[in-house]
Amino acid sequence: MRMTVIGTGYVGLVHAVCMADIGHEVVGVDTDEARIAPLTEGRSPIHEPGLDELLTRTLASGRLRFSTSLADAARFADVHFVCVGTPQMPGGEAADVRQVDAVIDDLAPLVRPGSLIIGKSTVPVGTTARLGARLRAVAPHSEVAVNPEFLREGFAVSDTRRPERIVVGAESRRAEMVLREIYEPMLISGARFFSTDPATAELVKVASNAFLATKISFINAMAEVCDAAGADVVTLADAVGQDSRIGHRFLQPGLGFGGSCFPKDIRAFAARAEELGVGEAIAFLRQVDEINLRQRTRTVDLARDLVGGSFTGRHVGVLGAAFKPGSDDVRDSPALEVASAIRREGAEVRVHDPEALDNARRGFPELQYAFDVPKACEDADLVLHLTAWPEYRDISPDRLASVVRSRKILDARDTLDATTWQSAGWTLSALGRPPTN
Ligand code: NAD
Repeated sequence: MRMTVIGTGYVGLVHAVCMADIGHEVVGVDTDEARIAPLTEGRSPIHEPGLDELLTRTLASGRLRFSTSLADAARFADVHFVCVGTPQMPGGEAADVRQVDAVIDDLAPLVRPGSLIIGKSTVPVGTTARLGARLRAVAPHSEVAVNPEFLREGFAVSDTRRPERIVVGAESRRAEMVLREIYEPMLISGARFFSTDPATAELVKVASNAFLATKISFINAMAEVCDAAGADVVTLADAVGQDSRIGHRFLQPGLGFGGSCFPKDIRAFAARAEELGVGEAIAFLRQVDEINLRQRTRTVDLARDLVGGSFTGRHVGVLGAAFKPGSDDVRDSPALEVASAIRREGAEVRVHDPEALDNARRGFPELQYAFDVPKACEDADLVLHLTAWPEYRDISPDRLASVVRSRKILDARDTLDATTWQSAGWTLSALGRPPTN
């Protein structure tokens, strides 16, 4: 099938490439020339495992190309996926849907009759119905549907190729059938297809993120209780998660969530619920947000204690800049927020990350950066483990000991092996765990 994907960020680019890979003919459209130019040459502006190979392959197949022109998109296909950003409103909590509105307004006069515009961006409930009316006012024979995206950054390609579910909110049987046809290979591989009304589909997305965020903040609240009681949250999480009704996933204590989705999505959900007069029903999401943000302050406070009460003149080595392992995305990264707060208090901070250094440098030019872990930790009075990249678990505490000034590490992700670090003479502190030395 012929289709366009409008917005070639983390969601749109991966979607475009994966759609071309399963045999569709795809044009990826973005207003950002700086994104389209490298893509046309086969260079991805983002890091996602497997993406570079897939991009090269699908460009070579002739089934994928890129463009900056919506008119080109409207001429090429009758099916358009909208994957533009829906960030938090500047100065507010609600979602800023102006990019989505702009795509509908710009595309409506260009589309051929019978076109289908499918929203993949995360939007407040009611948006698809509103956009449908807006589209029909200009293009009466075209329609909208919503097909929320559930991919995880760091696993974007594999999640798109093998989704657990495909959720579609359509106003017509025809739109539903088009989406079934598009995703046929995924459905054959076992993805479950949910066809519902647009409002329910929109809510499935934000309810999923709200639940996952709540699970993370729940265990971080338990970490605070463990700190007060001298208990160990890592053992607690392991034992609690062993209950199959609860499960281990998203029960990882630590510095909490960041990125471009969970924080803004739970705020936007709470704001939308208030507009609908049911703010009280999900008021707990405000607390989920507060608990999450508090882990950043707790980390800074604990780090300050570990260097003797003041950061002035201290050297701090930071492991991790990305908001999560496997990604180069630093949007609302807890790691960089902590690093930056510590620097503002007078420390010299040097940050390492396997993938996100370029993005980090652009957003936080005031920090120093290092291409390897020993360089980041040279002369450090304290090492901070802030993003749980798997390679940090393989660091040799013995070798790192030879470059630091003081063998102190704060494991704000609760994933390092305390015994190994302790046997190499380190004091390992962590959120929700008693100190090892
Ligand atoms: P992004 O910021 O990486 O990409 C958005 C892209 O849209 C940018 O390249 C931008 O230049 C482009 N764009 C903006 N206006 C445009 C226009 N008028 N025409 C064409 N292109 C335009 O965003 P993202 O992370 O890919 O997220 C996109 C949406 O998907 C958001 O609503 C987000 O909440 C949702 N989502 C994101 C993820 C994720 O993990 N990143 C997962 C699920 C859902």
